[in-house]
Parts: sequence; C-alpha cells; structure tokens
Amino acid sequence: MDQDPDSVLAGLDPEQEEAARAVRGPVCILAGAGTGKTRTITHRIAYAVGTGAVPPGQLLAVTFTARAAGEMRTRLRVLGVGRGSGGPGVQALTFHAAALRQLRYFGPRVLGGPVPELLDNKIRLVGTAAAKAGVRDTNRTVLRDLAAEIEWAKVTLCPQALYPARAAEAGREPPVPAATMVAVMAAYEDAKARGGVLDFEDLLLVTAAAIEEHRDVAEELRSRYRHFVVDEYQDVSPLQQRLLDAWLGGRDDLCVVGDPNQTIYSFTGATPSYLLGFGRRHPGATVVRLVRDYRSTPQVVELANRVLGKRSALRLVGQRPAGPRPTFAEYDDEPAEAAAVAAQCRARIDAGTPASELAVLYRVNAQSEAYERALADAGVPYVLRGGERFFDRVEIKQAMLLLRGAGRSADPATKMVDTVRDVLSGLNWSPSAPPPGGTARERWESLAALVAVAEELAAVQPEAALADLVAELEQRAAAQHAPTVQGVTLASLHAAKGLEWDVVFLVGLVEGTLPIQHALTDEQVDEERRLLYVGVTRARESISLSWSLSRTPGGPRRRRRTRFLHGIAPEGSSGTGTPAARRRGPAELPDGADPELFSRLRAWRSARAEAQKVPAYVVLTDATLAQLAARQPLDVPALVAVPGIGQQKLDRYGEDVLAIVRGEPAPSGAGA
Ligand code: ATP
Ligand code: MG
Repeated sequence: MDQDPDSVLAGLDPEQEEAARAVRGPVCILAGAGTGKTRTITHRIAYAVGTGAVPPGQLLAVTFTARAAGEMRTRLRVLGVGRGSGGPGVQALTFHAAALRQLRYFGPRVLGGPVPELLDNKIRLVGTAAAKAGVRDTNRTVLRDLAAEIEWAKVTLCPQALYPARAAEAGREPPVPAATMVAVMAAYEDAKARGGVLDFEDLLLVTAAAIEEHRDVAEELRSRYRHFVVDEYQDVSPLQQRLLDAWLGGRDDLCVVGDPNQTIYSFTGATPSYLLGFGRRHPGATVVRLVRDYRSTPQVVELANRVLGKRSALRLVGQRPAGPRPTFAEYDDEPAEAAAVAAQCRARIDAGTPASELAVLYRVNAQSEAYERALADAGVPYVLRGGERFFDRVEIKQAMLLLRGAGRSADPATKMVDTVRDVLSGLNWSPSAPPPGGTARERWESLAALVAVAEELAAVQPEAALADLVAELEQRAAAQHAPTVQGVTLASLHAAKGLEWDVVFLVGLVEGTLPIQHALTDEQVDEERRLLYVGVTRARESISLSWSLSRTPGGPRRRRRTRFLHGIAPEGSSGTGTPAARRRGPAELPDGADPELFSRLRAWRSARAEAQKVPAYVVLTDATLAQLAARQPLDVPALVAVPGIGQQKLDRYGEDVLAIVRGEPAPSGAGA
C-alpha cells in the first residue's frame, strides 16, 4: 500500500481507532452487531502493515466460514493489503483452510508419508460404525444425528470415555444411549484409521498435534506467522482454540473480535468462554468495546437492547436516522399470520422495495411451509436460505408417495386426518412428540406441518377426502416450484446470522418454538434468547414481530407468545384475534386511537356487511378497526402492516379504508 497509513484510520470512530492503533500485543474487541467489527480488524491490519509494524506475510487472519473469509479477503484487497495486490499480502483463511495448507506443507515430514485423504462426508463410515456397534435402525436421519454427536465430542475435545457424563451435562440428545454412542465413536475411529482417511476434525487435531510434538515444525511455523487475528471469536471451539494456541506457542500477538450476544452455535461445540476470558488469559490486553451500531435505526437497536436487557454488558447505540417503530401482531392462526406477512411483502414490493431487501425469519425450517405457501399465493417470489423447499424435502416426497397410494384405497368411514396420521406412521412418525436428535426433529416437524395442512383442509371443508388432500398438496407443490433467483429471503434464525435486510419479519414467536421445546437448561434458554437478538439485529429499517394462537384455523388456541417479548410487546396488542375483538368494545380503544375515526369505520362496516349479507366481523373485526383507528394508515404499505389486513382484506376493502382514514368519502360508496 502506498497511501499514508493514517488515512486508513480516517473512516473509524474513536473506539474503532483505538483498536486499530493497538497494532501489537493482545487485543480483544467486544462488540455488538453492526458495530463495524470486521471493518475495525481489516483497518487495523491495513494500518499495522502500512506503518511497517507488521510485515504482511507474517499475519494470519482466521475466521469460521468460507463466506466470512472471502468477505475479509475482499475488504483487505480494497485496503491494498490483501493477496494479489502486489507483494506477499495478508492471508485470510478459515481454520480448516489454514490447517490444510500447513499439513500439506509439513505433513510428509511428520506423518512419514503423504497426507491422508480427507473425508468430506462422514455418513458412510458412521453407517459402518453404527452397524458394528449394534445400532439397529441406521436410516439417514439417525446417521446424521450420530455424526453430529461425533463432531460435537471431537470439537469439544471430549475423550470418548467421558462422553456420557459430558453429554448429559450439556443436555445433548444422542439418538442412541450414551454407552452405545461411545461404541459408535470407537468403531468410527477404527473404520477411519483402517481406511487411512482423516475427517475435518482430525485435520485440526493432527495439525495441532504436529506443531505441539515436532519442534522443527513449530519453529518454522512460528517464524513464518507472528501475528494473528480472529473474527467472530465467540464461535471458537476448544479444538480450534487448541490449534490457535499451537500457532501462538505462548506468544501473545493476537487480536480477537466477537460478540458474546451472538453465540448461537453452542450446540455444535462453539463457546464464548475464550472471548469472555481473554482479559484473564492475557493480562495487559487492550480491551475495546464497540457499541455504536451503524446498521440499524435507533428503533431497531432499542428493541435489540430490550430483548437482552441486563443480560448484556453491551448496550448498542444506534447511529442511523430514526425509522419506523417495530410492530407486534398476534394472529388467530398460523395461516392467517403467514397471509398477513405475505400481504405486507407484496405491498412493500409494489411500493418499490426490491424483494431481496425483505426477509422472513423463523426458528425451525418446518415453519417455512406456511410462508412458502402464503408467498406463492400472494405472487411473491422467494428464496430459501440454508434449507430445502418444503416439497423438495425427502420426507415430504416419501409422504406424498404414500398418501397418493393410500388415497386410492382409503376407507371413507375413517376421518381424513386420522388416515393421514395412520399413513405417516408408516414413516415412523407419531403425533406424540418429536424424537431426540436435530435431524430427527426436523424431519418430525416437516411431517407435522403436513398433518397441519390436512387439519386445515378438514377445518374449512369437513367432507374433504384423502384424494382432496393429495390434490391440494400437489397444487401447492406446483405453485411453489417456480425457481427464483431474486426474492424474499426465507431463512431460519441460524441461517440469517451475519446477514442484513432493510425489512425483516420475525414470525412464529411462540413458546415451544422460541425458546424451542427442547431448550431446558438456563444456558439453552439463554441461547434461544440470543437467537431472537440475532434476528432483530438483521433489520436495517423495519422490523415486524408476530405470533399466532393456534396452528390451524379454528384449532385449539393453546399457543402463547414467547416469554422473550414479555414487557416488550404491548400487552393485549392482539391483532386479528376474534375473541379479543369480541371482548374489546369501543370504550377500550388502544392508546392514540381516534374514537371518531373508529366510529366512522364502524358505520362503513355495517353498511358493507349488510350489502354482503354477512355478519359485521366477517368484513373486519373490532380489533382491526381499533388498530386502524390507532395507526391511521395513509398508504397501502402502512395499511397491510395493520394486523388483520391480509391480501384478501386489502383487495376487498383497502381503497375504502384508506379513503375513510384520509377523511375522503369511500370510493365504492357505503353500500358497494
Ligand atoms: P456483524 O456483527 O453482523 O458481523 P460487524 O460488527 O462485523 O457486524 P461490519 O460488517 O464491519 O459490522 O459493519 C456494519 C456496517 O456498518 C457496514 O456497512 C460498515 O461499513 C458500517 N460501518 C462500520 N463502522 C463504521 C463507521 N465508523 N462509520 C460508518 N459506517 C461504518
Ligand atoms: Mg462481521
């Protein structure tokens, strides 16, 4: 780089600059979402190289995902210190890529032969091992969950013998008893050794051990790399930390950056304890806190702060101009919630927001079904991130096959929904509760979503036969199959980490889903809360949170809003809830509602209801009218943000309602 090194600091705020100026020695940057962590460390690197404090070839920057490493390389190149910008350049790699390069280089020396082949997928060997350990049921779901346990044990450096105790302590749910799990692990390691292959965890283990045990390797590596930077350090695992320690060899030229509040991968063995304990491990470290949030409006930032409350030592301070207030909405059932969200997406897109600037985020992938359908119904393109489209999932394809077969021979005397449950029992699905294991649970949830579709159909069309359900499902599958490149993002909260959109909908915020049912320990529940925080902090401008009281229309209203919104969402902020509507008379309008507008809306509604020969609440509920009187929407995007205004209501009554709010005569006339 040939600019003045100080110019690199020009784009930093005072705290960011303090971190960037600390070019040597241990540095710990504790920072919230959107506070410029990646920006700070890349500028720090550029400054250190620019001032000559650090030769670029001696610096290794590591992170966890290929995407994050790529992002870092791009930013370093822009700053003129990356690879390919002339000269040696700074390396930015994932832990795995760094280990692989090093092992390829000195492997022959320490392993006495070529570096073994890398196993890019464990499943086959896990299958062999499971059979050997006497596991009877070795379907793909079980194998994936066994593989997840093997990985967890390895990245947490848990010796096989200690697995049962540590797994119990960590609240793990292996798909087989812990003792069997140990046998599977042993058989897996055997099979791997016989095949002469290494898995991804071995790659880090073998590299660390080679450095620890071979003086010449350690000396060569340590003279090559003298300065280390780790981004997203809250996600480090004990195994990765061991490799980092091997690289450092007791030196302390290390800069770490992370957000303890974004630790959402503990279940894979990541732990924020190294980040939080950095000051203790490195006395005299420069510790910098970044709290200025450059991503989100102060309204979004305030909500994020409130989600964590006193649990967080970092209170974010929004730096952007003010934006709309977060909205909270309660719906009667999930399809109503999904329809309302889809209508809001439609209206935003019609008003000019690119679809790629919108996201609908949920806790578990099975929740996508309702949203895939509602968006398809509303003609809104969507893309799924980190998950498969509902009708593409293996278990759904299998279920469709069985349902089609059963549809031809179904006993008309049996209720359709019971037949569906019966058919799905052929896939080992039972209505009681999801089985243990992450993959097994996802599969169970997908099939449960299919049953919900059946229940929904039965609710609106009690005579529906199995053949009708199959036809309905096939129609939905076809409607949802249009491949898209640009659309509203549908993603789980986990898959949304590190991303950002102008408009974010956080949906399905009910107990049992968030926190997820199997989060039992305090630590697990805290991690669920952080998931909500990660979701909120993805929004630049607009955030909407919603939940529904029942899974299906007319179903039992057993669901409760997530505890994490207690004291945050206004109590009784229910949207379309009809019981709530019946309870609320005009005397109980929400704060800020205009009673005069409310009565004009009611007068218009009576006329419409009479003309359509339907009860008034079928047009719009009292709760919706009350919300309209409070929010006074002046355009379509504002109107569809009102709970209770879905696509249908918008099409039928949108123009009238906007006219009434604006104080104009209703265009279609009171009786149209
Ligand atoms: P995450 O927690 O999601 O990883 P982060 O802390 O790494 O976020 P960055 O991606 O570095 O944050 O920055 C977030 C956004 O804020 C970027 O668009 C960045 O350019 C901007 N930003 C960061 N610092 C400043 C600053 N001092 N002035 C103006 N904009 C800034
Ligand atoms: Mg970042």
